[in-house]
Amino acid sequence: ARQIVLRSRPIGMPTENNFGFEEIEISAPKDGEVLLKSQYISVDPYMRGRMSDEESYIKPFELGKPIDGGAIATVIESKSDILKKGDRVVGMLPWATYSKDKADRLRKIHTDEFPDGYYLGVLGMPGLTAYFGVMDICQPRYGETMVISGAAGAVGLVAGQIARIQGCKVLGITGSDEKVNVLKNEFGFDMAINYKTTKDLSGTISELCPKGVDCYFDNVGGEVSEAIIAHLNYHARIALCGQIASYNTATQEMGPRLLPQILSKSGTIKGFIVGDYQKRFLEGLSHLMTWLKEGKLHYTETIIDGFDKLPYAFLGLFSGKNIGKMLVKVNE
Ligand code: NDP
Repeated sequence: ARQIVLRSRPIGMPTENNFGFEEIEISAPKDGEVLLKSQYISVDPYMRGRMSDEESYIKPFELGKPIDGGAIATVIESKSDILKKGDRVVGMLPWATYSKDKADRLRKIHTDEFPDGYYLGVLGMPGLTAYFGVMDICQPRYGETMVISGAAGAVGLVAGQIARIQGCKVLGITGSDEKVNVLKNEFGFDMAINYKTTKDLSGTISELCPKGVDCYFDNVGGEVSEAIIAHLNYHARIALCGQIASYNTATQEMGPRLLPQILSKSGTIKGFIVGDYQKRFLEGLSHLMTWLKEGKLHYTETIIDGFDKLPYAFLGLFSGKNIGKMLVKVNE
């Protein structure tokens, strides 16, 4: 089998040189274990944090050890009563073409109703993040205005559509004209703008949201957030989900500049990690599945072909190469 390890820790923007490819032998599974063939491997922005040696809510990748993350695999040999050959599973797996794991660490995919990749996207960690960020933190009310940054990504696409389902008017902020069109024409966003080409972002947001902004689902931070927060309404809620604009900056910005605006609107800003909601995952999943089946929620994926493309796909998250969930399909 082949695996990808962390060869060095990046300073600033990571490069393909931070990753190394290795050939490995995998021994036969022991009692309770299964042998797995990887099908889809997820690349996610939070992995950038794990490449650094800093304390966080999830431990750093180790130098010289395989990267790991969400993946879907097929059981090709089983020494467990829980899983049998041919089962498809989702779990935290190494970036490897084949791997071995304890069966009780994996969750079986029981249905063919949805594409397998959905279990890493809308029916996985990103979808749950969107669900709890919108429903629990933003608590939108009918007729309110919600702005979503990183709107065309794995989380943002779902967050915007859930806000629409709750009766909000939704503005998506994204990084290309193609994504603007997709958000408006395929995913039902009321409005969308390209933050890279809009000259006066704050002025444009003010025009598009004449009644102000009640909820802000923040995936990116930085200047995009500043432009949005200038238009908050009284008692606005901000779900602080991600800050991708600063994941690759070598130095931290000095001091929060947005607090006076939030204070003067009696606003709430709340950071959250999807794992906080573990006890409510089934509630979230059942809503997401229902909305998908009812045709109220749609999803898309950017699937890059080939195990070797994992570093490329991961780096592509930071230049916006994806619409919806970014996945790598393992073909060997
Ligand atoms: P996405 O699928 O949204 O991929 C990342 C996107 O971010 C890119 O497509 C790009 O789109 C945008 N982007 C990249 N660099 C910048 C930048 N400098 N400024 C603005 N936008 C940028 O990823 P996810 O949906 O998986 O994650 C979205 C956010 O949510 C991330 O910040 C992530 O860390 C966070 N997250 C948080 C979780 C939690 O538990 N709190 C769980 C999961 C994700 P564009 O073309 O628009 O620039």
